[in-house]
Amino acid sequence: MSFVVDCHCHIFNADDVPVEGMMRARKIPGFVSVLIDRILQGLAPSYGVAPPSPISADNRTHALVNHLLETDDEIKRLYRDAQPHIRLNDGIDYITWAKVITGSRRQIAQTMLDQFGEVDLFTPLMVDMELWLNDTINVSIPQQIIELEKLVRAFPGCIHPFAPFCPRRAVRNAGTANDPLIFVKDAIENRGFIGVKLYPAMGFVPCNNATIIPNDPESARYDKVLESLYEYCDSEQVPIAAHCSPGGAEAQPGVSGAYGNPMLWEPVLQKYSHLRLNLAHFGGGKQMVESPDTCWSHDIARLMENYSVYTDMGYFSCLRDDRACRIYLDTLTDIYEDHPILIDRMMYGTDWEMITVEPKQEQYYQITHDAFQNWCAGGLPSGTMRNLFGQNAMQFLGLTAGEKNFSRLSAYYAKNKLTLPTWLSGAMAAPVPAGQPAAQPRAAMLSLAAAPRRSGGRKTSVRAHERTSVRKSRTSAGIQRGKKKQPKRRSR
Ligand SMILES: [Zn+2]
Repeated sequence: MSFVVDCHCHIFNADDVPVEGMMRARKIPGFVSVLIDRILQGLAPSYGVAPPSPISADNRTHALVNHLLETDDEIKRLYRDAQPHIRLNDGIDYITWAKVITGSRRQIAQTMLDQFGEVDLFTPLMVDMELWLNDTINVSIPQQIIELEKLVRAFPGCIHPFAPFCPRRAVRNAGTANDPLIFVKDAIENRGFIGVKLYPAMGFVPCNNATIIPNDPESARYDKVLESLYEYCDSEQVPIAAHCSPGGAEAQPGVSGAYGNPMLWEPVLQKYSHLRLNLAHFGGGKQMVESPDTCWSHDIARLMENYSVYTDMGYFSCLRDDRACRIYLDTLTDIYEDHPILIDRMMYGTDWEMITVEPKQEQYYQITHDAFQNWCAGGLPSGTMRNLFGQNAMQFLGLTAGEKNFSRLSAYYAKNKLTLPTWLSGAMAAPVPAGQPAAQPRAAMLSLAAAPRRSGGRKTSVRAHERTSVRKSRTSAGIQRGKKKQPKRRSR
């Protein structure tokens, strides 16, 4: 595998997000959400990239459990009631998640980098949910941007985040120094950030807010602040990632998930024709399995035909089950047959650290890689894997020579005297359409693989060889079923 990008991950700790609000939004009962919020936010270090105390993740979890069990009877009762929700029968594991999210941001980043040694570049997406979930964050968004920049510098070439934009915050702070667009621009222009994250399921739509959400008294003003963001991103080649599945966190459960509907983006895409948009999760892996004919993925693929729309594989939880995986890949095949452009626009992504509640999450890369390799082996052009796992993201992110992100980052590395990563030195030129030989000589790719990386990197480890045999023993699924029709390849 050549250059690998995880374009959908997160690095936040419990102080950065409204934990209670997020858990309620994921339909976790209120008393469990409150308990977990208090404990996790109490344990998480607020500032600094270095661990503030020698407490290990395991000890922190012990502290969490002991705190629950050794205090008063009321807490004991709450804990007993919480048990089925903390470790659900279907394998959802909030303890592992708690271990991760109570670390310092640096510990969290290091865990992710170590766990996914195959990945060269991560683009963690920040989220700003505070004003929608009736819960507060302990560390402000501008301070979080400063904290994440420390990671950009600590792991040169490996981490370039997306800044969040909340239209409600923009409306409330319009004309002040706390306008989130100011923070977005500062992050992009001065701090090594490369994109913007939006989360419509919090309570807004990409445009026409007054019409679609008339019961929110502020909604009539969301369009204007969003337009300012789109204008900036369109002219400055700043990619946007938007949550795009009916699941995930919904500020109004059962209602606001629909605000992520991909078709709501079309008027924006028509107006801002250069905008690069990642409609994340490809409409939702769960939905692709449970309602393969009506899921949003078809609409996302339709948008790809006319606009610079991309998607990612983030939170691929269906892969924990072979049957679900088969249905997912069959759905993907159906969509690919109608929209072959899909393989030039789909990108590898994990949604780590959200996936740490899932079983086998440590093997996410390998499971996803194997599933897609089998899919590609069923008749897709050579080079498709390379594009799905890295090159499509490089194009989306504008990290090839001549793009504004490429220039901004080149200047950032020079100004801060950081070692220039290989991918920014120009060695990786333009992405290569699938089916054509890579312009990059193999020797250059080998030097790329061998280039010094962060500590814990293991790109060419023994484990990789061991995995090969595992991969071979897996049965092929997916695209072979769809061999009936060989779609024409479309050039980029
Ligand atoms: Zn996510």
